[in-house]
Amino acid sequence: MLDTDRLELLRHAPVTPAAHIIDGARRDASDGGTLDVISPLDGTTLTTMPKGTVEDARAVCASARRAFDDGRWSGLAPAARKSVLLKWARLIEENALDLAVLGVRDNGTEIGMAYKAEPLSAAATIRYYAEAVDKIFGEIAPTAPGTLGLVHREPAGVVGAIVPWNFPLMIGAWKLGPALAAGCTVVLKPAETASLTLVRIAELALEAGLPAGVLNVVTGEGAVVGHEIAHSHDVDVLVFTGSGATGRRLLEASAASNLKRVHLELGGKSPNVVFADAPDLDEAVKVSANGIFRNSGQVCVAGSRLLVERSVHDTFVARLAEHVRSMKVGDPLDPATAAGAVNSLRQLQQNLDFVEEARGLGRQVVGGARVLEDTGGYYMEPTIVTGVDPADRLAREEVFGPVLAVSAFDGEAEAVELANGTDYGLSAGIWTADLGRAHRMIRRIRAGVVHVNTYGGSDLTVPLGGVKQSGNSHDKSLHAFDKYLDLKTAWIKL
Ligand code: ADP
Repeated sequence: MLDTDRLELLRHAPVTPAAHIIDGARRDASDGGTLDVISPLDGTTLTTMPKGTVEDARAVCASARRAFDDGRWSGLAPAARKSVLLKWARLIEENALDLAVLGVRDNGTEIGMAYKAEPLSAAATIRYYAEAVDKIFGEIAPTAPGTLGLVHREPAGVVGAIVPWNFPLMIGAWKLGPALAAGCTVVLKPAETASLTLVRIAELALEAGLPAGVLNVVTGEGAVVGHEIAHSHDVDVLVFTGSGATGRRLLEASAASNLKRVHLELGGKSPNVVFADAPDLDEAVKVSANGIFRNSGQVCVAGSRLLVERSVHDTFVARLAEHVRSMKVGDPLDPATAAGAVNSLRQLQQNLDFVEEARGLGRQVVGGARVLEDTGGYYMEPTIVTGVDPADRLAREEVFGPVLAVSAFDGEAEAVELANGTDYGLSAGIWTADLGRAHRMIRRIRAGVVHVNTYGGSDLTVPLGGVKQSGNSHDKSLHAFDKYLDLKTAWIKL
């Protein structure tokens, strides 16, 4: 339950300027430059953060390198690392509401979801990996007599983590949890429009006893500090969640520098396929709406393409439109709000451009307008566009906004063709009462996760990652450790 009195108190609380965290201390940018932190709730300046320079990025990478090489973290007994990480998770939980409200004021997500999906989920993730620290073993290989082959699992070194603005704590923790548990040190680069909570939890990590330099944070522009981290020879592994365009740049940076491994979680244009025999159309309507419109569509796994079997298309779309009209758009700090603020003016404009283009092509649009402009904030109606052609930009490109592209199909074969008809392969949904069809579709749809008779549910214990241009790696589950642990063979003659 949210403490609404405290929430109201925090809503207008002054926000301390953010700082880099380097070598265990807060630091300003080396040239004193700052960036304004604009709140999408009302367009006002919340506070400032350092506009990191190339020197700042070099300093965080060098500090993390020293911290890794001298073994101040990787050299601790696993149980000692575990105890620090568990304490950190507890501190995040104790500060959950403050962190959630700060995050919402920074990025615009609805508080009901942000509270659970951000601090609480981050704490649960850190705890999950902390508990696994002393349960990771190497192997003894079945080699020939007279030999011994030992397979060690060693921390991979310095990790550069570049994260996005839609769920900074949740996605940040998906990287920080396993990386730190594995014994790596980390350089974290939050997104320009969602840095405050990550800086705050890095301070809590120090309070929990994480040694200086093990987790450094540098704020600022991706093209400056992110670019420098990606090119750094001090960084061994780069982990990233964000756009395909930036993902490509990171691969190029690796090739141009030290061939660091690059793990990418990119976007999606995920199909949500409703067959006429869906067991409960009303449930499908509700869950599908949530699957695209929560966090104003700013979710990498959003079910942004709704494919509906032609015989139920008109009924389904009519019910969906009715349901969407009942969704409250607005103040994300009001727990009743279903869709909060769009993260930035730039993102809002991109969303509106997609809608205008669809209108221009003669597609039917329900919703589609900027609303509550008098608040100064960035709010947009949940938008349903029907009659979308597979060739439309709206059917192929990620909007990352509250815009649902709807198309009709006839039969399973066409459903598969449409579902697989983009460069992406992150998530998918299938609604059917036919078990055989569900399994056929699971196999034929190219995606990292396929939901059946639901959309968007998940758990920390299962991996999340994409195929095709949605990425090359996985967060979550014990498989995430593979990114942060190197295999080393010791070959011994007996
Ligand atoms: P979006 O366009 O949705 O903001 P990005 O991929 O640009 O998505 O942003 C995700 C993260 O990548 C952010 O932390 C951003 O600062 C960072 N970033 C952006 N450009 C670069 C770059 N050229 N090099 C490294 N990081 C970058």
